[in-house]
Amino acid sequence: MIARHRPLVDHWDWQRHALCRGMDSSVFFSPQGERGQARRAREEKALAICARCPVHEDCARTALRAGEAYGVWGGLTEREREAALLRDRARLHEQNSQVSAACARMPGNAEQQTPRTVGRSDSAPLWPTT
Ligand code: SF4
Repeated sequence: MIARHRPLVDHWDWQRHALCRGMDSSVFFSPQGERGQARRAREEKALAICARCPVHEDCARTALRAGEAYGVWGGLTEREREAALLRDRARLHEQNSQVSAACARMPGNAEQQTPRTVGRSDSAPLWPTT
């Protein structure tokens, strides 16, 4: 079978339509030590641009998948992306717990069988003890 992959350029094609293309990136990334009102004001400016961007969903998805730690991407601030990733991890953990619990309840699960004595009339050990 021949594996068909999309050309790499397709993954980034959305960036050609980015509203921020050619803009000063300092609107989207905080300078070192930026805090409080200055940070909020800069983020609001960036978020207003993202809100009008035709590719904000692709942008947000790419940033979340890549675990982008810095900047405003796809209409999400650093803190919003971090919160979304934490929610996602918690949801995955919950799903894994449910799958593990369901597997443990399945008939034939090794933990539910009585090893060594199943089908035997006595419970003598299977190997000599002396
Ligand atoms: S969503 Fe925002 S950061 Fe992403 S491409 Fe559009 S304008 Fe740029």
